[in-house]
Amino acid sequence: MESFVYEALPTRVVFGSGTVARIREEVERLGAHRALVLTTPGRGEGLANEVSSLLRDRSAGVHAGAVMHTPIDVTEKALSVVRERAADALVAVGGGSTIGLSKALALRTDLPQVVVPTTYAGSELTPVLGETAQGVKTTRSDPRILPETVIYDVELTMSLPPALSATSGLNATAHAVEALYARERNPITSLMAERGIGAFARALPAIVANPSNREARAGALEGAWLCGTCLGAVGMALHHKLCHALGGALGLPHAETHAVILPHATAYNAPAAPGAMGLIAGALGTADAAGGLWDLAGRIGAPRALSDLGMAEDAIDRVADLAVANPYWNPRPVDRDAIRALLRRAWAGEPPEA
Ligand code: NAD
Repeated sequence: MESFVYEALPTRVVFGSGTVARIREEVERLGAHRALVLTTPGRGEGLANEVSSLLRDRSAGVHAGAVMHTPIDVTEKALSVVRERAADALVAVGGGSTIGLSKALALRTDLPQVVVPTTYAGSELTPVLGETAQGVKTTRSDPRILPETVIYDVELTMSLPPALSATSGLNATAHAVEALYARERNPITSLMAERGIGAFARALPAIVANPSNREARAGALEGAWLCGTCLGAVGMALHHKLCHALGGALGLPHAETHAVILPHATAYNAPAAPGAMGLIAGALGTADAAGGLWDLAGRIGAPRALSDLGMAEDAIDRVADLAVANPYWNPRPVDRDAIRALLRRAWAGEPPEA
């Protein structure tokens, strides 16, 4: 018998097609009158302007200032915009970078957040924020960080390019894979994780074949919700530690790094988590969990080598050192030599090995 503690997080989720039209109603529901719409500069601004129009008199305008890794100076600039415009709510329209800015502002102001995700990263369902100051990313958890409302609108994901859909989907899949062997795992998160992995295994090849496949897009977004909920509910292990080390020390791109590392971290943990491996393989419809993830990445054209992301071979030792310093809890003890071997295989683009 396994004991567990399960605590559901109180985010309201509105899921469907065309659901962004409900943005004003959702902001009103939180008792807010002036919502500041956040996004990244560039192509996201058009959508943010549309959301601002939908808010009508409840909009405090758009601030297109979010950037990756939530640098503190970017947050401080946005904080002055919140104050100047007397905003009493935040609306984030975009991927994990935009949501990161919204969370950083909510942490400092306790303003309510309505998040409209346009990638599959899953940040919208967690009370966790990673912030960067002087090149160092620190992570913290606080109830103020958790968004009050998430609006998933399949239509907003139709434009996510196939390559980004593939890596973002594998980033989400990684949350579910690690949830299945997490120390805090429980029957609810395990059900969500299995279903989330299965949703992406079906949806991602279909999206890459035809990015306009609305049914596949809906499947992937449902997968993002399920996998993101797992990320918010249980602790993550070696896979996330390795990705944080690679992203933090070398500035490798977030979703792509997750895509490369996932089969290798899964293979590493396979001997210590046979039950989880069976569930992952079952969800993927393959005989072997790590092999199935490797094949999935190949089929959807996701990167499979850290060298292709611009990592130099002589950085392997530095990352191995970081991965074993203050390791996250992991089902298999984290051994430096074995981690170095894992990283070398991932660097070279070789298949995973336990
Ligand atoms: P992102 O937000 O940086 O977006 C990647 C790119 O995709 C951007 O250029 C963006 O403009 C574009 N884009 C987004 N949606 C699009 C769409 N529908 N159509 C076309 N282009 C679109 O990437 P991400 O992977 O979503 O987020 C990564 C960040 O999120 C990292 O900083 C990571 O640390 C953070 N994150 C945090 C958590 C958490 O719980 N705190 C969880 C997951 C990710």
